[in-house]
Amino acid sequence: MNTRLSTTVSSTHEVINPSTEQVVATVPSLSVEETDAAIARAEAAFPAWRAVSPADRGRLLRRFSEVVDAHIDELAQLEVTGSGHTIGNARWEAGNVRDVLAYYAAAPERLFGKQIPVAGGLDVTFKEPFGVVSVIVPWNFPMPIAGWGFAPALAAGNVVVLKPAELTPLTAIRLGELALEAGLPEGVFTVLPGKGSIVGERFVTHPAVRKVCFTGSTEVGQRIMRGAAEQIKRVTLELGGKSANIVFADSDLEKAAASAPMSVFDNSGQDCCARSRILVQASVYDRFMELFETAVKGVVVTDPADEAAQMGPLISADHRAHVRGFVEGSADSVDVAFRGTAPTGAGWWYPPTVVIPRSTQDTVWQEEIFGPVVAVLPFDDEADAIAKANDTAYGLSGSIWTRDVGRAIRVARGVEAGNLSVNSHSSVRYATPFGGFKQSGLGRELGPDALDAFTEVKNVFFATDD
Ligand code: NAD
Repeated sequence: MNTRLSTTVSSTHEVINPSTEQVVATVPSLSVEETDAAIARAEAAFPAWRAVSPADRGRLLRRFSEVVDAHIDELAQLEVTGSGHTIGNARWEAGNVRDVLAYYAAAPERLFGKQIPVAGGLDVTFKEPFGVVSVIVPWNFPMPIAGWGFAPALAAGNVVVLKPAELTPLTAIRLGELALEAGLPEGVFTVLPGKGSIVGERFVTHPAVRKVCFTGSTEVGQRIMRGAAEQIKRVTLELGGKSANIVFADSDLEKAAASAPMSVFDNSGQDCCARSRILVQASVYDRFMELFETAVKGVVVTDPADEAAQMGPLISADHRAHVRGFVEGSADSVDVAFRGTAPTGAGWWYPPTVVIPRSTQDTVWQEEIFGPVVAVLPFDDEADAIAKANDTAYGLSGSIWTRDVGRAIRVARGVEAGNLSVNSHSSVRYATPFGGFKQSGLGRELGPDALDAFTEVKNVFFATDD
């Protein structure tokens, strides 16, 4: 820690295309001193930003949304080459930043407090911005996760410093430029590329940074929460997942099996909401596996720039080795049921892989793999399905397939997870809350209440007695 704090000269970091292993850009990797200077500029920009009238702040965010809209293709291309995302996904991701900005552009004029009846006067509450808010982003969804933090934070009147993941900084850096182009004042939204151990840690230790909005691994989230305790710093944590896809015998089995591959292999399985555990009612297990095998073998894994691509490569060589270790290097001797295909040669490819654990204690059933590997087990009845789904430290997402409405409601209430979908795999809508139970996180993002995570409630009593 002390040696890191003495870092003064900024270094650089090479961004590599995961499909070709070629260097696509070199970006700065900021030092502690450079981070402190940026935080000081943000702090200086706060009073004026906070004083911008609600309508004008909303107008600026709408303009930012429009500028992002005008650059969707450019941003999407950057995510294809810099992160290996399929072009279809990358366009959706850039569009999500536009939509989240547009949604929260309406918020400054709707940041209501309350008037509470009390004796002897008037009591009102205000939602006050924190000041400097930091956002720390992982590499798996560089654009949307950045937007879920910065859009509501800015709308609430905060200034934002944002650290993208080291592996995938390009789109965040571009969004920082687009914010200036849209007319946001200097210092209001600053993107600081660099290491988690330097820039990220400084967000936690710097007293002027009042909040850390973190998305990433549970391990780093725990470290951030421990560090934040020193200053009682506010945190939002969006962490790992090991979500269950529960398929009942009375479901539309064809639809459940056809949709299961992309509920886990989308973004090459590098998705905190990936349904990486499939639970199938024993009476339809064999039929489901037959249908599922056809669907998995049909997943198009190819150059992510190809419009037909459904899945691209993994993010890095290290990450592929990590994913592979769960299947090929596992001490639990994992049974591979079947696999899809993947290109060979340059690029960090790994095929969609379906494994059958020996027990619910196996690593492939318990740990977040964060790659295109899904484990399948049968269950007996509703109670067994809920118990198996909940037998994990995580609680982020999940899906329930059944035609029985009562069962859908009972199981949805029984599964300990923040975001569930019935007869679909939807997890994230910008208008609805998103976040995890248990070790999947703390707090909620998105939806109408996200501004509560970026404001402090102030209560003011005005005496009316003479
Ligand atoms: P990570 O925890 O390694 O890194 C996330 C970010 O934190 C990066 O920007 C990194 O540089 C930074 N960081 C690392 N060490 C830090 C430190 N000591 N202090 C402050 N910042 C630090 O995670 P990752 O590998 O980039 O992302 C994958 C993880 O993110 C998975 O576990 C995944 O489930 C999780 N994730 C969760 C959600 C969610 O919404 N719940 C969404 C996406 C990803």
